[in-house]
Amino acid sequence: MLAEFAHLVEQGAELVELRLDYISSRVNIQRLLKDRPCATVVTVRREQDGGKYTGSEDARLIMLREAIANGVEYVDLEDDVASKIPRFGKTKRIISHHNFRNTPDNLRDLHNHMKALDADIVKIATMANQPHDNLRMLEMVQESDSDTVGMCMGDIGISSRILGPRFGAKFTYATFHHERALAPGQLSYEQMTNVFRHNSIGRQTAVYGVIADPVGHSLSPQIHNAEFGALGIDGVYVPFRVPFDTLGQFMDDVSRLGIRGLSVTIPHKEAVAKFLTKVDPAVKGIGAVNTVLFRDEEVLGYNTDYKAAMDCLENALGGVVPPGVPSPLQDKKVLVLGAGGVARAVMYGLQRRGAKTTIASRTRSRAQHLADTFGGKCVEWQARHAPTEILVNCTPIGMHPNVDESPFNKTHLKSNMTVFDTVYNPESTLLLKDARSHGCKIVSGVDMFIKQAQIQFWLFTGQEPSEARMRETLRRAIGSVKY
Ligand code: NAP
Repeated sequence: MLAEFAHLVEQGAELVELRLDYISSRVNIQRLLKDRPCATVVTVRREQDGGKYTGSEDARLIMLREAIANGVEYVDLEDDVASKIPRFGKTKRIISHHNFRNTPDNLRDLHNHMKALDADIVKIATMANQPHDNLRMLEMVQESDSDTVGMCMGDIGISSRILGPRFGAKFTYATFHHERALAPGQLSYEQMTNVFRHNSIGRQTAVYGVIADPVGHSLSPQIHNAEFGALGIDGVYVPFRVPFDTLGQFMDDVSRLGIRGLSVTIPHKEAVAKFLTKVDPAVKGIGAVNTVLFRDEEVLGYNTDYKAAMDCLENALGGVVPPGVPSPLQDKKVLVLGAGGVARAVMYGLQRRGAKTTIASRTRSRAQHLADTFGGKCVEWQARHAPTEILVNCTPIGMHPNVDESPFNKTHLKSNMTVFDTVYNPESTLLLKDARSHGCKIVSGVDMFIKQAQIQFWLFTGQEPSEARMRETLRRAIGSVKY
């Protein structure tokens, strides 16, 4: 514990909580607190509050009193025992309350009750069962007239941990390491400081984010937050886990959360359309939205996946052309594999650029539907290896961990083909390796991902991000920690 304590302070932590309930042997409190390198909170959490302490309650209270007698800066006292441990010396009292089932309606009453227990700081941690719980918690913190830390636990609650400072939270809790979360949904100190730049979030910080369910796999937070940091923009990009049936309530909460723009992904890409007041023509054509902007009273929807996919293909074929000039995709024979959301955006773009499209997918009826909607031919999945000039994989085949799979037999690849794999993890899929070894031109899923993020960042902020830096951030993020 002492080694980790020193390590955190070296990384910049200003306040460290020592969870004495994680020490199974007898605790030498004096030794832990002697020569401590920064302000310290001593906590001995019971099992019923999510801790590890199983000894007697009397012994636990003695440990807390001993920490106070040793002059620790803060001691954490649960609201039901706070009155048993009187104020002494300079030690400040964090009065805490945990609820692992839900976020109760009466947060303000709870806060008032806890404040009256001679609290220097009130800490409330409750389980979020729906995104609206986060807003209620954050607004309780904002409206409180004393130092307060309030956060929601669980995957849905992660945004409340990140956005605390925007609503005036005194501090937040993070773990020593991302694999050692002490409470559900907790982020590591490294994630909180390096990815989310928690220390630079303030009352005016513009909030952006991604809505999805699940959301933990999204790499967009790393990319957008790194750009905010590098360009000196006062913004934060937050992963919001929004279950499908809570989208309406979340959209109602957007302005109170300070949200100016959202990336939208599965399962909300179609459903979010009904909340828009203005749509980009591509959104109408594709029937899916992946970017939403909130400007005054307007809610604007865009599809940057479509634009990114087309820009990447045109670049590979000689360059993106201005409107009115025939695209290098015109009259090209293109085979699209897959018939999901990405295939839909690609088919729409290819139709508008006059390509001759063939589509094949596992479920023939879905492929047929896209061929009927956007023009083109539909063939059986087994018949996909016919000659083509351009191949676009819009299936997840070859994606991590199935990196030894390819959606297209390499014996049918020709050196004059352009092969575009939308899968971006790994960057070099088996399909792209095969294509490269056959001398084909290639476009990777990373190219497309970066392009759509660039367009999205520009829509969000009106500023040009650095493509090279986004690429570098994405490469580091792929395969790194998830939250
Ligand atoms: P989706 O809506 O789930 O569609 C996937 C399509 O692939 C479906 O038509 C599915 O067939 C088909 N498919 C899945 N497994 C298959 C298999 N084993 N054999 C044949 N067909 C199969 O997914 P999506 O949102 O379109 O995303 C597709 C891929 O695009 C993702 O896996 C991701 O790697 C990539 N992507 C890339 C970016 C980027 O920026 N680079 C962005 C988003 C997505 P059924 O209809 O039978 O289910």
